[in-house]
Amino acid sequence: MALTLKPLLRLTLPLLMLALSFYLSGKTALINNNYLELLGLLPYALFVIVLALAHYFNRSRFFSAALLLATAYWLIQGQLQTSLAELYPLYFYTALSLLLPPGLLFLTILPERGLWNIHGLLPLSITPLLMIAAYIASQHYSEQQLLAFTDLFTIKPYEAYVLSVYASLGFLLSLLLGLVMLVIRNNEAEAAFCACIMFCFATLAGFDQPFISSILFSACGLTLVIGLLRSSFEMAYRDDLTGLFGRRAFNEKLRGLGRQYSIAMMDVDHFKKFNDTHGHDVGDDVLRIVANRIAEVTGGGIPYRYGGEEFCVIFPGKKLKPCVPHLEAAREAIGNYSINLRDKNTRPKNAKEGATQRQSKKDRKKKTVSVTISIGVAEKDDTLTTPKQVLKAADKALYKAKKNGRNCLAR
Ligand code: GH3
Ligand code: MG
Ligand code: MG
Repeated sequence: MALTLKPLLRLTLPLLMLALSFYLSGKTALINNNYLELLGLLPYALFVIVLALAHYFNRSRFFSAALLLATAYWLIQGQLQTSLAELYPLYFYTALSLLLPPGLLFLTILPERGLWNIHGLLPLSITPLLMIAAYIASQHYSEQQLLAFTDLFTIKPYEAYVLSVYASLGFLLSLLLGLVMLVIRNNEAEAAFCACIMFCFATLAGFDQPFISSILFSACGLTLVIGLLRSSFEMAYRDDLTGLFGRRAFNEKLRGLGRQYSIAMMDVDHFKKFNDTHGHDVGDDVLRIVANRIAEVTGGGIPYRYGGEEFCVIFPGKKLKPCVPHLEAAREAIGNYSINLRDKNTRPKNAKEGATQRQSKKDRKKKTVSVTISIGVAEKDDTLTTPKQVLKAADKALYKAKKNGRNCLAR
């Protein structure tokens, strides 16, 4: 699947939150003292909500991120409210600034494998491990040694910027790698963790601003809550194989359609034979490719995986006739797409074998296949008045397209 930068759009809300946090941090003087006390507790409340939701949805990375950030916030509130000119606050600040970015990056890179099983232990262990390491170091080393350590990471390298240059680079590198993971996986979890890296960076860089940690760690908690809910929504509504919206989303859309709409049913031609010839795994890859082409349908069509090798496109507010060129374009794009079969299983085992294969044009041709789709389309009119009737008519038209020889559109 071609990589695009579209997943970065998932950072829109967190970036707005970051801007809002900067705005709010300049306004804390206007807030009543009682409310400020509550603001100090807000991150804990949000992290508890994340822990409960992550437990409910069985998501180890969100659970572990909430634990890690709650611990970091607790450390900031408990140990770092005095001057950073003192040794121990400075040591803990330095340790936090060096350990938080790799900790969050670790959670971003790990695949999600559920919370209450053996695999959940790995992400869960990150917080106690980092905490114990920092604590043992603070007990084990003499004040001189700790001073020498903090001297390596000089804080306040610039005016109004507290974070050391090395720790800043650590944050930058973690964020960049996190963004790469976001682009590859296109997931809400990766977006939420990248946002948390940014919020932690902003907290530690602007550490001498009053209430900065309460505001930005609240933003972390909120981002994790939203990320968890959005990723769970996507799990329920999106099809895992193709990434398209699935049957549940399709049924909901049908119920909300207005006075005018058209529905197209699409079905891959002779797909059973394709599976039998090339194997189910290659069949799955082809379904992904077909879904990608259907996802690019123009004219305002919303694509869905209806089930198996069947797809649907709904055109809300559109009559049938103007939809036809958009559907024909999708059908042609699929038919013209050459699918390279040199996948993992058929890939040459060594360079020599690969070179021999590359030399043989005939051989290369043999390993390229294509599939076609048939389309049936229907619109709402005086006789077809409900979405169910329109869908049935589209299905009937699809049957007609199959009878007409496949790789065509019928209405
Ligand atoms: P037609 O042109 O008439 O549509 O023929 P067909 O072979 O495509 O039709 P049929 O409905 O008999 O076969 C559909 C096949 O699609 C059966 C099944 O093997 C395959 N299929 C359905 N879902 C999946 C899937 O998720 N992955 C793979 N690899 N194959 C699937
Ligand atoms: Mg079928
Ligand atoms: Mg078929």
